[in-house]
Amino acid sequence: MSRPTPPASPSTPAAAVTLTPHLGTGGRCTLVGAGPGDPELLTIKALKAIQAATVLLVDDLVSDAIVAHAPPTARVVYVGKRGGCKSTPQAFIEKLMLMAVNEGENVVRLKGGDPFIFGRGGEEVEHLRAAGVQVEVINGITSGLAGLTSLGVPLTHREHAHGVVFVTGHAKPGDDGTDWRLLASTAHTARLTLVIYMGVSGAARIQDELLHGLPAQTPVVIVQHATLPQQRHAVATLGSLHATIDREGLTSPAIIVVGDVLTGLAAAASHPAVQTGMGPGTGTRAAA
Ligand code: SAH
Repeated sequence: MSRPTPPASPSTPAAAVTLTPHLGTGGRCTLVGAGPGDPELLTIKALKAIQAATVLLVDDLVSDAIVAHAPPTARVVYVGKRGGCKSTPQAFIEKLMLMAVNEGENVVRLKGGDPFIFGRGGEEVEHLRAAGVQVEVINGITSGLAGLTSLGVPLTHREHAHGVVFVTGHAKPGDDGTDWRLLASTAHTARLTLVIYMGVSGAARIQDELLHGLPAQTPVVIVQHATLPQQRHAVATLGSLHATIDREGLTSPAIIVVGDVLTGLAAAASHPAVQTGMGPGTGTRAAA
């Protein structure tokens, strides 16, 4: 990966994107949510920002079809783990963004899902603001929402769930992470749906901990590559979460959803005549 060099002018004007230039350089930065994967789930505002970019810093989970909306003259820098390489350190990404803004570029930082849900978007905005750069943030549809919607299931329901918690299964090094037992008992009492991001590799521990506050029969679903053609999902119970992930070979990126809002899906999955997958992909599996 190389340092972004100033590209030629973009072919599409930045008509609808209002941004604050940095220190008179004309440089600007927008954090753009690319949505969960399906390029059609991009917002119009996100599309306009991408079309107006001169430099794009692109995360791993952003599809090529979305990056293809950038002007051909724009410089595209991949900062994720594509090609089996280690992802670019966060501090370096932030440095690149700042450098490009100071060079007068119209920088778009393209992030999977929503930039402010577990994407380190908050850290990037803080860093840029500390350097005097105003940043605009454009929401994207977060994978935790789209994953369940792709199965035709809501995150809340008057009969089953009064609210929803988006939680990470992956703590920062040195951080104790989520208190899963407390979360489980709160979710049980308050009737909350749990949407766990980055939880697949730690699923065994998460399952053990959640079982301290939630019944083993609580329905769960694991959705991998939500909204993409290769989407797969498995329906299980909390007591069989880890075994199901193992048996089905489900890997990241996937979200795990836990809660009674899945009751209908679980019932349909246990009925052999019913097709439970409504997502775009094949490989739908219903586990016991
Ligand atoms: N900002 C992103 C989340 C980034 S953290 C968002 O709002 O969606 C990365 C995690 O998001 C992955 O480990 C996975 O848990 C989840 N994720 C992202 N894209 C996904 C997809 N298409 N299907 C399922 N999970 C996804």
